[in-house]
Amino acid sequence: MANMALKKVPMPEQQPEVRNHNFEEVAQGYTAEMAIEEATRCLQCKNSPCVAGCPVNVQIPAFISRMAQGDFAGAYAQIAQTNALPAICGRVCPQENQCEGKCVRGIKGEPVAIGRLERFAADWQMKNGKETIQKPVSNGHRVAVVGAGPAGLTCAGDLAKLGYQVTVFEALHAPGGVLLYGIPEFRLPKDIVAKEVGKLEELGVEIQTDMVIGRVDSVDELLEQGYEAVFIGSGAGLPSFMHIEGEDLLGVYSANEYLTRINLMKAYREGYDTPIAHSKAVAVVGGGNVAMDAARCAKRMGAEQVYIVYRRSMEELPARAEEVHHAIAEGIVFKLLHNPVKILGDENGYVKAIECVEMELGEPDASGRRRPLVKEGSNFLVEVDTVIMAIGTSPNPLIRSTTTGLEANKRGCLIAQENGATTKEGVFAGGDTVTGAATVILAMGAGKTAAQAIDEYIQSKAK
Ligand code: FAD
Ligand code: SF4
Ligand code: SF4
Repeated sequence: MANMALKKVPMPEQQPEVRNHNFEEVAQGYTAEMAIEEATRCLQCKNSPCVAGCPVNVQIPAFISRMAQGDFAGAYAQIAQTNALPAICGRVCPQENQCEGKCVRGIKGEPVAIGRLERFAADWQMKNGKETIQKPVSNGHRVAVVGAGPAGLTCAGDLAKLGYQVTVFEALHAPGGVLLYGIPEFRLPKDIVAKEVGKLEELGVEIQTDMVIGRVDSVDELLEQGYEAVFIGSGAGLPSFMHIEGEDLLGVYSANEYLTRINLMKAYREGYDTPIAHSKAVAVVGGGNVAMDAARCAKRMGAEQVYIVYRRSMEELPARAEEVHHAIAEGIVFKLLHNPVKILGDENGYVKAIECVEMELGEPDASGRRRPLVKEGSNFLVEVDTVIMAIGTSPNPLIRSTTTGLEANKRGCLIAQENGATTKEGVFAGGDTVTGAATVILAMGAGKTAAQAIDEYIQSKAK
């Protein structure tokens, strides 16, 4: 008999007034008892609508059924069949729009906490499991992967499992992509990313860091060196700005730069003298996950006042619901229906205030969201010493400008078919570099699809 409780088993968390002073993980994970209790809320639906919401096809009822019986190793094995990074997905997937968004328990009450259960299984396995990874027998074919983010790592892992000799070229000094330099430690501990990457290396994937493709070697040169196919998973790391007056003042950051200084360059740790503003009052412009992360980091770095400035209302906020709740609980102030028009500086060129206007929502625009309209004469100043722009990113043009025959659309995203094939033979692409800034799980799904297409491409040429 299923457990018919309407609410999910609550997730143990650090208290807001404690956690907004440290970088340790906020959500602390279920205990075994909690995981079993939550697993019994699953109705084991025959048509399993939740699975259709998962871009990597995790067999959700099957893993949850094992979990309900206390078979955590079996639950993990089931997830690992289709998901190479479960400890990460369990933490950062926007489940409310994916698997949990389709769960029938969500019709009346809260959906089954699929993400939390997936996280539990992966963490349990890391702590207790005796997974011995068998290095597959080589099939003698070589593939190059550009970028060690979720798209590149998933593609590399799937190809390695099929026996390909895979080399990943990563521009930064460590693999992980946004998982490493973007998403903060308090949402995704970096040792978890390192462990997941370690499993791929055990499979035989070679990762070469400090290799900026387009500078060291081009994609064309990789093909000339004997790689039979190249997968491009170089993300969308080029930040956008508003092009308003004052954006060149000292104390204005892109969210990418701010988060990279904190996460990758460890600005929050004692003993690291990473240059970063030690701000008192911060305005973060934007309403996505990136904006929430930047705001919550600023608070933890010691800022007394942190504002989210977003031009639409709470309903349109694109960030994960859980992260918005966490940010509010941590004392971040939401200035909704507000838009910056100017940043003001002091006599030394440092930010001293941001000028905003009030907005109201009109008819829906092309994106389907209601268009924000300026309320004339509503200008006002907010005193801040730091402004962080989190209004979106696009792919860096380096790769497309150094590769022959690779086409991109107007937004600078590589043009690729559904299977990842680009306009250049033997070159595949997926993740944010194709879609623009999206989600970890969509990037992983694209890496997975492309791995299959690369296998078919190489095998058809070998015949
Ligand atoms: P990336 O993760 O960007 O990885 C690309 C890699 O390619 C990087 O390591 C980069 O250094 C490397 N690279 C770039 N150019 C080159 C080159 N020329 N040569 C070699 N290497 C190169 N998604 C969620 O699902 N949930 C969240 O909670 C969430 N939070 C986010 C928070 C932040 C702050 C950010 C920035 C994004 C967040 N996202 C979230 C989005 C998600 O992280 C991305 O959609 C996902 O990482 C895209 O994966 P990717 O592999 O395509 O690219
Ligand atoms: Fe849900 Fe993400 Fe896990 Fe798929 S990978 S089941 S979308 S949490
Ligand atoms: Fe279980 Fe919900 Fe999936 Fe049904 S839809 S099988 S209740 S997780």
